[in-house]
Amino acid sequence: MEFRNAFTHKVESGRKSLDLPGAKILDCPECDGKMFLRQSKHGPFYGCENFPTCRAAHGAHPNGEPLGVPANAETKKWRIRAHDGFDHIWKHGEVRRNDAYSALAQYMSISRDECHIGSFDIEQCEEVLNFCDWYPPDEPDHDDPWGSDPYS
Ligand SMILES: [Zn+2]
Repeated sequence: MEFRNAFTHKVESGRKSLDLPGAKILDCPECDGKMFLRQSKHGPFYGCENFPTCRAAHGAHPNGEPLGVPANAETKKWRIRAHDGFDHIWKHGEVRRNDAYSALAQYMSISRDECHIGSFDIEQCEEVLNFCDWYPPDEPDHDDPWGSDPYS
């Protein structure tokens, strides 16, 4: 009975968005549902109205503004790849995380604030991987698993 109540509550609260200035209604990338702004203990996020059947979720700024465009499974795979490559730079290199992000933002001609791999599309993830091969520029030659050339 307790479970049932909790479940009902969740479904009902998913029907409407949090009342925040940046709140939007998004198209779910995984199903034909809509995504509404909700509250989690980590802050606001977008969840699919078809939860729990659909578990798509999307990040939001503290004011409710969505973090980029919701991604489908393919885009998420690319983001994970890009993140792995990028994290390698500052986890194993001489570079600090913040400096690596600033360099990435510069490389991609976006602002540091927009530089969230979690909101990148596939094309931008490819740029991140190109960046990872190139950065830091004075590193000796190494294998190029992505066959990438930023100017090809
Ligand atoms: Zn959905």
